[in-house]
Amino acid sequence: MGDVVTMDKIVSLCKRRGFIFPSSEIYGGVGSTYDYGHYGVLLKTNVKNEWWRAMLQDRDDVVALDSAIIQNPKVWEASGHLAGFTDPLVDCRTCKQRFRADHLDQLACGLKPSKHPGEGPDCDLTEARDFNLMFETTVGPVKESGATVYLRPETAQGIFINFKNVLQFSRRKPPFGIAQIGKSFRNEITPGNFVFRTREFEQMEMEFFVPPDDAKRWFEHWLAERERWYVELGIRPDHLRLRAHDADELSHYSSGTSDVEYLFPIGWSELEGIADRGDFDLSRHAEHANEKLEYVDTATRERYVPHVIEPAAGADRATLAFLVDAYDEEQVEGETRTLLRLHPRLAPVKVAVMPLVKKDGQPEVAREVYADLRRRMQAEYDEGGSIGKRYRRQDEIGTPWGVTVDHQTLEDRTVTLRDRDSLEQVRIPIDELGDELERRLRAPWTTPKLATASS
Ligand code: ATP
Repeated sequence: MGDVVTMDKIVSLCKRRGFIFPSSEIYGGVGSTYDYGHYGVLLKTNVKNEWWRAMLQDRDDVVALDSAIIQNPKVWEASGHLAGFTDPLVDCRTCKQRFRADHLDQLACGLKPSKHPGEGPDCDLTEARDFNLMFETTVGPVKESGATVYLRPETAQGIFINFKNVLQFSRRKPPFGIAQIGKSFRNEITPGNFVFRTREFEQMEMEFFVPPDDAKRWFEHWLAERERWYVELGIRPDHLRLRAHDADELSHYSSGTSDVEYLFPIGWSELEGIADRGDFDLSRHAEHANEKLEYVDTATRERYVPHVIEPAAGADRATLAFLVDAYDEEQVEGETRTLLRLHPRLAPVKVAVMPLVKKDGQPEVAREVYADLRRRMQAEYDEGGSIGKRYRRQDEIGTPWGVTVDHQTLEDRTVTLRDRDSLEQVRIPIDELGDELERRLRAPWTTPKLATASS
């Protein structure tokens, strides 16, 4: 075990096993855009469901929202995105490529990839200029002025503009939060590193509205909560860290931001940002929309504009981190076993049911077991190929448990239950299988990669 993972290995496993493919591949692709296949959809859905669970089910002070992608363009004027959502861009007059000026030390020169842009003998970079990252489109059948709208570059603003609705209709008072998952779009100058940075991606954002005096306390609360979420879902704590932004890194709206960073194969990088946004957003929308966006305490008549603590995560980036952290290779009987040691709750398929051989009544019993288990959890039936090959396939998609029906099953209705991580096999009566798997699924789980690294 140990750290054997490179981004290439992740990309290749994702393609080979149908998690994630380059988009529009039959037309030669479209830069840094990806499509999720069956197992990728199941995995990312589990990531999002775990986020919903942490926000909605495990606490009672957050409500859900699903706002539109296309909003009134005034939203982006008020939020500051039209004027300020820019990255500095430089062009190279020689290779004609564009680069993010603040990422040059991580990028490769267009002609000499071993050098950074600007360091090659022929590099000829322009001065940096600001480039707005919002995608523009038009509403209605005619392209005329006034019809320009934007694809949202973050889900957060959809939450702020619904603050009043939620306050009224779900009868909430600070501290409370509004959570949303949805697609966001940014015309990134240099997307890359697989799904780490793409132009179309999914965000999981929550805006937590608090009395101004309590902002600091809630900021600390959400830092700890969000770090705990990743660790509970199996990320190795030594591959995770919190990093506070320096004053010159802070966004225009923020009085404090910390990133949850993960040690990706490309180095420590942002997984999620947690920001104290003060009253910036509500005040700006109040001013631009000419609306009162504040909380009035009916008992004390006290009124104030709540401050906002925002944990903003990426569903794709989190999925990538879980994949990277789970990837492992080990030697078993002289062969390399590749597997994803995913937390069982995240694993796309929880259990694979297989007859040892495709005869002697075994497939019939295996199908019966499968039909029973699939009512309880995502299960898969597999009878094709040697048993070793079928296990290898399940290991690579991260299926935590394998159930094998063999000749003994026909005699005593017991099956073998194989554990992906320890490779331990136990015999268990078919009647107890469902309960046992549900028990294991609920149990706390830590990655065996951790134990090996520290031993
Ligand atoms: P970065 O510095 O990496 O560009 P950011 O600080 O602009 O990110 P935020 O605006 O804080 O990102 O967005 C919150 C989260 O959304 C990020 O932590 C990340 O997980 C995700 N995210 C942002 N941009 C992208 C992208 N282009 N592709 C995939 N995920 C993204």
